[in-house]
Amino acid sequence: MPKVTIDGIQYEFNPGETIIQVAERNGIHIPHYCWHPKLSVSGNCRMCLVEVEKMPKLVIACSTLAMEGMVVHTKSERAIKGREHVMEFLLINHPLDCPICDEAGECMLQEYAYRHGTGYSRFIEEKNQKPKRVKLGPYVMFDAERCISCSRCIRFSKEIAKADQLTFVQRGDRVTIETFPGKQFDNPYSLNVVDICPVGALTNIDFRFKARVWEMSATKSICPGCARGCNIDIWVRNNEILRLTPRLNESVNDYWMCDHGRINCFKFVNAKDRVDGPHLRKDGELIKVKWDEAVNYTISELKKFNPNEIAVIASPFATLEDNFVLLKFAKQVLRTKNIFYNPHIKPGDQDDILIREDKTPNSTGLKLLGIQTSENGLSIETLSEFIKTKVIKCLIVVEDDPIASNSKLKDVLQNLDTVVVFATNQNKTTEYTKILYPAATYAEKNGVFVNFQGIAQRLRPAISTIEMERTLDGMALSRLDKFGTEFDKWARPVKYDAMSTWKILSQIARGFGFKFDYMTSEDVFIEIGNNYRAFSGLNYESLGDKGYKLNLTKVIEEKILV
Ligand code: SF4
Ligand code: SF4
Repeated sequence: MPKVTIDGIQYEFNPGETIIQVAERNGIHIPHYCWHPKLSVSGNCRMCLVEVEKMPKLVIACSTLAMEGMVVHTKSERAIKGREHVMEFLLINHPLDCPICDEAGECMLQEYAYRHGTGYSRFIEEKNQKPKRVKLGPYVMFDAERCISCSRCIRFSKEIAKADQLTFVQRGDRVTIETFPGKQFDNPYSLNVVDICPVGALTNIDFRFKARVWEMSATKSICPGCARGCNIDIWVRNNEILRLTPRLNESVNDYWMCDHGRINCFKFVNAKDRVDGPHLRKDGELIKVKWDEAVNYTISELKKFNPNEIAVIASPFATLEDNFVLLKFAKQVLRTKNIFYNPHIKPGDQDDILIREDKTPNSTGLKLLGIQTSENGLSIETLSEFIKTKVIKCLIVVEDDPIASNSKLKDVLQNLDTVVVFATNQNKTTEYTKILYPAATYAEKNGVFVNFQGIAQRLRPAISTIEMERTLDGMALSRLDKFGTEFDKWARPVKYDAMSTWKILSQIARGFGFKFDYMTSEDVFIEIGNNYRAFSGLNYESLGDKGYKLNLTKVIEEKILV
């Protein structure tokens, strides 16, 4: 293979690679603004200047191809001086308003000004004034004075989002960004430009001025908005989620996520309608009760029914662990075979970028567990008929709202003797329940989702519940590692009395005299591996930060079902 020397060390490269690509692959950082590994090369910011022996001038590393025998210096005096001059030009018209800029703390201009600037300005003329607070679309605000014209946003829209909505207008130091006449910057991926804008020119309207970035913790997780399972960071302050951002995973979502996931997939966690603590219906009202009372009452209620009088609705919104324990509870404790889940498909709402028409994060996980959908197993129509004719007398619903999507079920619900619901938020189905358990959301628990590609990916708790803090209090520090989270360093005023569904079910199962003695969700995951070959030998560590591609050709053995 051909070789190039960078800062005194020889590296092999593939013909066609540029200097910056070879450098990045080998852990050498060459400062840059406009270059992005997933976008075409524009070479306009000039920040990646390097010195190449036998070349008369400095060259830009993003568009100069590596050549056999080439000798590159990224830290020579000439290269450093060249970058200082570029920084000086970039800052000439910049408003230097870091104290009030949302990007402060994660701004490449700020960072490079410290690392590669001279620390002073020779510019005494009047700065250009440009439009501020320009709403480009429903979610993105533009500040033209902060823009360094790197064109990343334009290239992203055209090349990745396939929506040619942004362009440069004017020339020279008057150049700025606009949408094409009569167009909004409203493609389903618009907010990714906020992440890739190297300065504070593009901001997220939903997040602007909510927090400084250093006040928040960031926890690695998975978006629950569809079967893609985009890798995300959950940003938290005061035990409240303030934003989601995409986390790099080239096998799943690359650097991106969709606006729907980013805007809509966290607000329910801190919403006013959260179910807070277990509830029992007394005199027509749902009354908050102690956990013991709810569990004892549930056991006495469930004991009233024959196995075939009970139906269980599992959830593709819940984790693999929640559904496995539910399946085991149905088969071993209740001895019912009536367990299925409702698919949530929006036909046509899918593209060849990220968005999937399956709007749940874990339907593949349920299929691997052998839980049937309402299409293949017990349909909602048949269930409604069974309820109407009193064949089914008790319904258990986990982390779903079947009544919202099925009026037939609603019409027959009064025929049931008992409804038990596990829910994160109040919904149509909770209005009819006799027993209501507060399920922890995806942001409050450990667990696994399996995406549509068969990649098993980990969730980690980003915010704490009352139960979790109680558990953490009693844990040795080494045990804390299991939670794999960077807990919010600030006070936590809002804490819900909620628990992972698998934990609540295990408590009820123990009340029936069964040995559901898991300590952590990883204990459940390991048991799944003992029962299903697709997960055999896996633990949370083996899933890593980027997930584990399951071998779906392995035969699924449903040991616990027989
Ligand atoms: S708005 Fe940001 S991403 Fe777009 S050209 Fe300006 S600096 Fe670059
Ligand atoms: S594509 Fe799906 S998983 Fe990804 S961010 Fe959007 S809703 Fe979430």
